[in-house]
Amino acid sequence: MRSQMCASCGHFFEVEERFAGGIVNCPACGRATEVAGLRDPLWKGLVIAAVVGWIGASSFVASTWGLVPGLAAAAALGLLLWLISRAF
Ligand SMILES: [Zn+2]
Repeated sequence: MRSQMCASCGHFFEVEERFAGGIVNCPACGRATEVAGLRDPLWKGLVIAAVVGWIGASSFVASTWGLVPGLAAAAALGLLLWLISRAF
């Protein structure tokens, strides 16, 4: 269990650990509120690393093989990252 404050009304309540990083409805006002998760910093780090890798790989392809292959690589990698993000 973890302590959670409702973003809408400020009510404190307990939420189960499995809701960490997710969204729960406040028992006082019923509004949806975001639960801070342990995996949040890790997840944000992964997203940043993926975006940096995506831009880096695309600009590498663009500088090596030209703009059109670079854009094609950006589109292909973007699609791949999108598909991976959908899996979670
Ligand atoms: Zn509330």
